[in-house]
Formats: sequence, C-alpha cells, structure tokens
Amino acid sequence: MNIWKKEKIRVRIAPSPTGALHIGTARSALFNYLFAKKNKGSFILRIEDTDLERSDLKWTQDIIDGLKWLGIEWDEGPDIGGAFGPYKQTQRIESYTKYLEKLLGEDKAYFCFCSSKDLEEKRQEQMTRGAAPKYDGTCAHLSKETVKKNISEGRPSVIRFRMHEKKIKFKDLIRGEIEFDTGLMGDIVIAKDTKTPLYNFAVVVDDYEMQISHVIRGEDHIANTPKQMMLQDALSFKPPAYAHIPLILAPDRSKMSKRYGSVSISDYKNMGYLPEAVINFMALLGWNPGTEKEIFSLSQLEKEFSLDKVQKAGAVFNIQRLDFINGYYIREKSDKKVAELCLPYLMSAGLIDGNRKIKGGEEVSEKKLEKIIQAYKARLKKLSEIVELADFFFKEKLEYNMNKLKWGTMDYAQTIESLNYSEKILSEIDNWEQKILEEKLMGAATKFNLEKGYPEKNRGYLLWPLRVALSAKEASASPFEIADILGKEKTLQRINDAIEALA
Ligand code: GLU
Repeated sequence: MNIWKKEKIRVRIAPSPTGALHIGTARSALFNYLFAKKNKGSFILRIEDTDLERSDLKWTQDIIDGLKWLGIEWDEGPDIGGAFGPYKQTQRIESYTKYLEKLLGEDKAYFCFCSSKDLEEKRQEQMTRGAAPKYDGTCAHLSKETVKKNISEGRPSVIRFRMHEKKIKFKDLIRGEIEFDTGLMGDIVIAKDTKTPLYNFAVVVDDYEMQISHVIRGEDHIANTPKQMMLQDALSFKPPAYAHIPLILAPDRSKMSKRYGSVSISDYKNMGYLPEAVINFMALLGWNPGTEKEIFSLSQLEKEFSLDKVQKAGAVFNIQRLDFINGYYIREKSDKKVAELCLPYLMSAGLIDGNRKIKGGEEVSEKKLEKIIQAYKARLKKLSEIVELADFFFKEKLEYNMNKLKWGTMDYAQTIESLNYSEKILSEIDNWEQKILEEKLMGAATKFNLEKGYPEKNRGYLLWPLRVALSAKEASASPFEIADILGKEKTLQRINDAIEALA
C-alpha cells in the first residue's frame, strides 16, 4: 500500500494594509488563486498589519473590496475565518512571542542595544572601507547579566537573529536554482521586542502555522527568502516551496510606479475597466500561455494557468493592451448591461441626475440610453469614456465652433445652405427610423452635390455640417444614428441652432 500522502496545496497572499490594493499585490493574489484552483488547494488571505503606524483598517477594507470586485475568492481569511486563524498578524502576537522566546532561549537570537546613530556610523565606516555593510556583532556576545541590566534600565533594544555563514540554495519554481551567501547579511533584526515582530520573522511563523506549501510572491522579496529559510532552519520548520514572479515594469523598464500610470486597483475600477478585463490583463503580466491567444476568462485561467509558463523577465505594463482587452469585454456585454454600467459615469459628470433627467428636466429613457450605447459600444475602451463621447445627447443646447461646422472648402454661407437642405429633407420624414434617415440623407447628399456643383461622391458637403450640428463634435457616430436617437424635434432644433450660430 502506498502510504505516501501528497501534501495539500496551501498558498496565500499577505498584503500589508498600508495603502490601496496595488496591482502587483492583486496579480500575486491572482497567481496564487489560480495555482490553488488548478491544484485543488486552498488560497488564504492574511493581513500583515504589524506595522501599526502605517497600517490602517481602511486599507484592509480596500484590499478585501478590491479582490472581491476582481472575483478572486479566498478559502480562509480575516473576514471569513478558517481552521488556521486568526488571519491578521496583530491577532497572532502570542505565536510570535512563543517563537521569539524559543530563539532567545536557545541563543539563536539576542538583544541588541546599539543606537541607530552608532549603527549608521558603523555602516558609513564599512562603506568607506569598501566592505559590505552589515551588523558588526557588538551585542552578539553580551553576558546574561548585562542584557538583564540593560533591559531593567529600560535601554532601547531590538532582537537580532544569529545569521550563520552559510550558502543557502533553493530551487525557485520560476527562476530555477538560486544561491545566497548569508555571510553577507549579518545578524538581522527580527523583532523590536518579543511582542513586536518584523516582517521576515512573522512571515516565517505564519507560513509555518498556516501550513503554507508554496510561497508565490513578487521578485522584490527574493532577497528575503534566504533570511526566512535561515529562520525556518533555526526553528526546525519545513520550508515551503518558493516561486518568485517577475516584477511589473513601466514601458521604459523602470519599476512600475504612479509616475507611469495608476497602480491601485480601485483607480482602474473608477476609470471604467471591467473586473474580467483587469483579471485577463494581469494574468498576462508574467504568465505566457504559449499561444497568440489573448482573451482568457477567470474560469479558463483556472484550468490553463501553470507556474512553469510564468516568465523570468520583468512584465511590461502596456496600457493599450488593457484598453484592448477591456474594449473586448465591453463589446461582449449587452447594450442594457453596458448602459447600466455607464450610468454612474454620466451621473458623476453631471449629465443626468439620479432620476435619469438631464438639466432641462427631460428624462432619458432606458431605451434611449441603450441606443446611445449601441452607437458607441464599439468605440468604448473604458466606461468613463462615454461622458466624452456622448455628452451631447444629454444637453439641451450645444455650443458650436463655427469652423468645425464647415466641410472642405465651404464658407459659412454654403454651410448654412447645406444645413437648410438637410433640414428640409428631414422635416419631410415622418417615419423617423435610422434606416429611413440613412436612405433619405444618402440620396440627398448626392443630389445636393450635383445641384451645387460639389464633387459627386463626397457626401461630406451635406453630411458633415449636419453631423456636427447634431453633436458639436468632429468625431461621433453617424448623423443617422444620432438623429434617430435625438428624435425629429430635437434634430431639427439643433440644425436651426447651428444655422443661427453661423448667421
Ligand atoms: N507583506 C508582504 C508584502 O505585502 C508579504 C510578502 C510575502 O508574500 O511574503 O509584500
């Protein structure tokens, strides 16, 4: 009988609530989540909130809300509990104290009383000598009595871990064999006191106690891994497997930062990116499916994702790609759904109020809104763009730029003539439907050119001034679509307004 039992896959993300959910953290969450799904494991959310000064509950909430918005679900976490809780570090202090005391008791860690001023001076001196700066061991061998005395006198101290000189080797699941020389590190500070652990220590205890099998995290943590492995060794903890995923880089290959674009998930949400697009985009930030395929739903990713297709090289953030993917998902949705999603943007731009009324009091029906979306869906790269593209549907009166109304060589008088011509044609149409409007206006455009001696095939002489009269924009949907949505009365009104502006 085979008694070998496969270890259960348990992965986690451990964000610090010191800011809004960062795209890098969200991508780590996604990769961990996908790895767990693919391997029928568990995905855990743990909040690393031991930095009391910088942590804030509002950021914990932002992280939770952001992940939920993306559709990334966790099996255990601070909001839902689980068998390995609590899932906030500030609630796990007892565990840290226990292991800190163990290390101190076994003389694997010690109290250090060096002041930051002394440390800085030593550091400078080492650097001047050309040596790698590391702790020089001043407090490494203080007698028990001295330590006791210093502590009872209330001298400020920290806890340092004895970092033996050793070559640490591990096989990173993405980067392959990695070797570090711990001799270069010096004795690291692992806690401010027995109740206040620092990151490298707390993470080791948590990953052990939560039985984390794989640590999948950003490459920026790679230098922490040997430190954590030394701590695991000192505490006789079995180390998890490690996979360091590539950094997200700005297009100039610098570290992705606010300078290049937004880094927080809530910003992308507010700009009108859809969660499924952000998920799809983030998956491709480092994971390469090995085909040309670019569109992946979360459930497809759950089946197809694998760590061995995660690249080593930095993942360049390309906003055009996100726009393209987002446009795809917008087009996939029904007009009704997109209208619903665009509504908040129209409202916050002040184009309609909570009762779907525009400034003059007219109500924009659901059907009308859907028609607007139908005319613009193909151009939308993000929902917020609806405001810029379609604002003229929600205004009583437009402001015209006289030069924009003209087409080609036309002067103002000729433009008025063209608008009058359209007005006449349109006022005679009773069956106000896009198809009929198109038929009549296309025919009229040719006739108009022949009558006025314009080049026959260039319909702009009739249709351009009309379209700008209806939209006040150089680029918009076709005049037929717009007229259909505006209705006969408003269409004729706008033509007259434009004529007035030109007169
Ligand atoms: N709190 C760390 C961070 O947010 C966690 C790193 C880790 O996954 O070990 O970067």
